Amino acid sequence: SLSQRLYKVAAYLPEGSHFADIGSDHAYLPCYVCLQDKTARAVAGEVNQGPYESAKNEVTSHSLQDRIDVRLGNGLEVLEVNEVNQIVIAGMGGPLIRDILEAGKEKLGAVQRIIVQPNIDSRSIRRWFLNNGYSLVEESILEESGHIYEILVAEQGDPEQPYDKKQIEKELWLGPYLLKQGGETFWKKCQEELDKKRYVLEQMKKASSVDQDKVDGINNEIIWLKEVLDYDR
Ligand code: SAM
Repeated sequence: SLSQRLYKVAAYLPEGSHFADIGSDHAYLPCYVCLQDKTARAVAGEVNQGPYESAKNEVTSHSLQDRIDVRLGNGLEVLEVNEVNQIVIAGMGGPLIRDILEAGKEKLGAVQRIIVQPNIDSRSIRRWFLNNGYSLVEESILEESGHIYEILVAEQGDPEQPYDKKQIEKELWLGPYLLKQGGETFWKKCQEELDKKRYVLEQMKKASSVDQDKVDGINNEIIWLKEVLDYDR
């Protein structure tokens, strides 16, 4: 059965979707989606030979070859222009996901929805969405096997961006919807982040030369985290 993380990602795909799962590894996600929804079709992209073979085997074992095309290649290079309507990129770092989207921009014409699950640094993707005509429409956070995961959903076009100009940097970092929604998992993440920031600050103060801009930046982030933890609960 699918992990809670990928299950949640799958739930953001509309019925009958024709989507790409980039960095598909075992192709668990597209297989699950296509078994649940007989009208769904997918491209599973993989840059590495081993995972590519695993994906092919998984798809064949479910006899889904006619609806899931497994392709070997880097990022969105495996896609034709206007081929898919949704893209999923899960289980990688935010900067890598952003770089894959940026490098494959010309393939995004028909892509109405992008669903990402960055393991770290979701800010880099929020910023990329903001600067590239995608509006963040939903966010969720979950904990599984001792890890906290964020999922971001963005749509093409010009719907309202969810940011408040006065605190856009805080929202790009922590997530505008997550900040509004709160919840135990989000607060736990913020607490962990606060502990990390305080530790980094301690270490910096011990160093012989202090980069005051960096210290100010971290102090600012500590204020944002305390706003979440002190006032929202
Ligand atoms: N998406 C799956 C998930 O969330 O469970 C698998 C995540 S796995 C940690 C990351 C996968 O992305 C690996 O199989 C890796 O080979 C693949 N990958 C990394 N960079 C890639 C790229 N530029 N293009 C396609 N696949 C990539």
